[in-house]
Amino acid sequence: MKGLPQISIRRVGQLMAEGKLSSKELCSYCYTLSLAGENVWKLSAFLRLLDRDTLMEQAEASDARWMTNRPLSLLDGIPVTIKANLALETQPLTAGSRILGASAAVPSHVTSDGTPPVGYTADAVQSLIDGGAIILGVTSMDEFGMGSLGTNTASGIPTKNPLPLLRRLGRRTQDSGKSSFLDLVSLSEEAIMEAHAAVLSEDDHGFSAGGSSCGSSVSVAHGSSLLSLGSDTGGSVRLPAAWCGVVGLKPTYGHISRHGLVSYASSLDTIGIMGPTADCVSIGLQQIVNNQRRDRDSTLVPLPYVRSIAENLDSSLALDGIKIGIPAAFSVAELPDNVRDAWSASADHLASHGATVEIVGSDAISPDTLQRALAAYYIIASAEAGSNLSRYDGFRYGVSAEVKSNTMNNPQSMLERQYATSRSYGFGSEVVRRVLCGTAVLSADRFHTYYESAAELRAFLTEQFEKATEQYDVLLVPTVAFPPAPLDRTTNSTQTLANDAMTVPISLTGLPAVSVPFERPTSQLFPPSMQLIGPRFGEEKLLKVAALLNT
Ligand code: GLN
Repeated sequence: MKGLPQISIRRVGQLMAEGKLSSKELCSYCYTLSLAGENVWKLSAFLRLLDRDTLMEQAEASDARWMTNRPLSLLDGIPVTIKANLALETQPLTAGSRILGASAAVPSHVTSDGTPPVGYTADAVQSLIDGGAIILGVTSMDEFGMGSLGTNTASGIPTKNPLPLLRRLGRRTQDSGKSSFLDLVSLSEEAIMEAHAAVLSEDDHGFSAGGSSCGSSVSVAHGSSLLSLGSDTGGSVRLPAAWCGVVGLKPTYGHISRHGLVSYASSLDTIGIMGPTADCVSIGLQQIVNNQRRDRDSTLVPLPYVRSIAENLDSSLALDGIKIGIPAAFSVAELPDNVRDAWSASADHLASHGATVEIVGSDAISPDTLQRALAAYYIIASAEAGSNLSRYDGFRYGVSAEVKSNTMNNPQSMLERQYATSRSYGFGSEVVRRVLCGTAVLSADRFHTYYESAAELRAFLTEQFEKATEQYDVLLVPTVAFPPAPLDRTTNSTQTLANDAMTVPISLTGLPAVSVPFERPTSQLFPPSMQLIGPRFGEEKLLKVAALLNT
């Protein structure tokens, strides 16, 4: 039993069309789940929940559309969450940083804490809203997207992985005999809260949800949203999706408009999509790509997403004619047995559905290049972060902190002191580390050694992966070598970076990749997830193959 019975977006559509489920019931259930997650389980998945009455009004409007058979899209009436670095007109845009007004307290149910709303909506978010999706809340994240564990939050409180609690709750729900999704939706708020409280245990210190889109993956895994937007610069959608057991897509760079996404490293930043199934993610991608504005992100390649919406990816499709490549370079010594077993079992599974599976040799994707990708990524990402974040100085952008220190004997100018005070107050330690590292690698005496070598490696790696994805429809590798880090132990930063080793190479190439849980051969507390990589704009095939691993 994975957790609570979940439902797909497509199934909700059927039930709504038949009048068996309303958006009001669904949104109310999801809202209660998110409150139980925050207040009872202390998941810290949300920075804000939106106003309940407003959500209910939106749900009512959606129900009226379904009743007259005129839904705006398959997403009409579906509760969706968005990461805190995506703009939503009525909410502050904080990217989880104090410098943009994220408060240090944890205001899970607070809908306003004085930080002004941003006044515009990201194009990707707007496309979902235009399809009738209902934004339920803004999810927590590692500050500016910098981190892999969901621990670099403005409050300092990490986001907790819900899987151990969810499994216990799933078993309890099954034992109670009320185990279908429609049974759950009809439960009272008190019953839901009580059930959450009943499975808490004293020795539960918690595991990392993965980062940086930690709150998004938690909300989807828990069931408080059926779709969530995150951002993936080096793995921030794929890693938390993997650790929370949901499907997470990093689309091709340039496929989804970055308008309204707070920049971290612009040449790598993508808006990613998480959902309980590959079909849900595909419905979200289709809605965004086919409806987004095309004139506000110069890196956007205006290609429509052409899948027929009638095709349900989650029903077993044949893979005849599909060629899967297994890059041997990813088979590193550190890979634990359970991940290695899942990797070969997933390849066998795809072969049994008609795919041809071949090993991609070290001559095509070289282990040496792959191993240096992590270092190259951190050089490039930090360099771009240093330059992007220079705008937060307390004057042009960001909160202005009051200078308190004595001005006598201080060699800094008043302006420098003002910058330093605002930034010391506003940036967390990981962000400071990245900015310093970025400034160093861009300095005149280090530029050639560090930045240029990293850029060269990136070009070389991209060439290798592009060639491999011309030969194979899909490359299959694990998403992450290690299980979620326990939150009661301190992890050093090298260990933390190692979690990104399998995702950052793909970000450097700009190719699309999807992470999908693969539960076989045995049921494990944290099942390993596989990462599928495809050619530029090859998302449709990736999601189709992902669906087969997830069913
Ligand atoms: N963990 C990586 C980093 O800190 C990736 C983050 C991301 O994709 N936003 O840079």
